[in-house]
Amino acid sequence: MSDSWSFKLFDVAGTAVRVHFTFFLLLAWIGAIHWTRGGPAAAIDGVIFILLLFVCVVLHEFGHIVAARRYGIRTPDVTLLPIGGVASLERMPEKPSQEIVVALAGPAVNLVIALVLMLVLGARFDFTQVAQLEQAQTTLMGRVAAANVALLVFNLIPAFPMDGGRVVRALLATGLGYTRATRVAASIGQGLAVVLAIVGLMGNPLLVLIAVFIFLAASGEAGYVQMRDYTRGYLASHAMITKFEALSPLSTADDAAQLLLRTTQQEFPVVDGAGTLRGMLTRDALVSALRSTGGATPVLDIMTRDVPTVPESGCLDAVFKLMQQRGGARFVGVVDPSNRLIGYITAENLAELIMIRQAREPAQQQAASTRA
Ligand SMILES: [Zn+2]
Repeated sequence: MSDSWSFKLFDVAGTAVRVHFTFFLLLAWIGAIHWTRGGPAAAIDGVIFILLLFVCVVLHEFGHIVAARRYGIRTPDVTLLPIGGVASLERMPEKPSQEIVVALAGPAVNLVIALVLMLVLGARFDFTQVAQLEQAQTTLMGRVAAANVALLVFNLIPAFPMDGGRVVRALLATGLGYTRATRVAASIGQGLAVVLAIVGLMGNPLLVLIAVFIFLAASGEAGYVQMRDYTRGYLASHAMITKFEALSPLSTADDAAQLLLRTTQQEFPVVDGAGTLRGMLTRDALVSALRSTGGATPVLDIMTRDVPTVPESGCLDAVFKLMQQRGGARFVGVVDPSNRLIGYITAENLAELIMIRQAREPAQQQAASTRA
């Protein structure tokens, strides 16, 4: 979920903590309700509650992250959303049993927090508070305990992409395979989102917000897993463009314009005498240079610099991740052991690879069902 609707707050032990804007919608909504019902004092109380809630959500996510680390999986970032967070693990645990442990580690943290608040600090709340978090009727600690029970309950709903949904997917994955299990779990999640939205429209706007989030997140995750599944098992060298014309660091915009006409390429690697990739010149950058600074402009001045590269033996997964990242790469160079450019991969390339795999999928599925 590292999309444009979220931004980074800080880093903890190699994990960037990001916040999705809908998290602030929830916070603002709770803050506003406190203000209208109790004035500034209630609003301050509400803000403290919100900050504590935020801490609990972060701790929930770090429950997942610590559990994943046990299996040697790092987590580059975690995004906070109204009903919890999404920790983007570097990879999923291979075994469904490990995925279940990782999925349950988050809610377990909320359970521990709620139990500590109630048993050790004597916080009290009644369960009707769980559905009415916006109401400031009990003590702060009571509400934090209630919030943790709410996080626990919501995340255990067997709707993908929540933790309960991940448990369902892990259970399904043993029989269906990861991609189909994700699709089924996502459908269950979306169906549940529709039900939640209908219930929410009858008087609880918070439920509608949650429903919209579940629906979007479920389709996002299903799409991501599908893409990842299609690129899995391929090397960067399988998908790269190998027939291409390159520019030299001495080339000008005029040289590039010639190449643009002679070839079907829309982007040109700029490669130096040692075969090292210096940058990529796009058609758009070329056209705007011709318009503004003229044909004598050196390509070095108008190319995209810092194009990431992967070794030819690198996994296509890694390329996909480079492109998926925030402000992701539009091109990835593929280099041989002596760092010479031997090809490059564009988003269209990946799309073509996926088209080919999709076209072949029915045959593969038939083969799989025959085996089963
Ligand atoms: Zn979780």
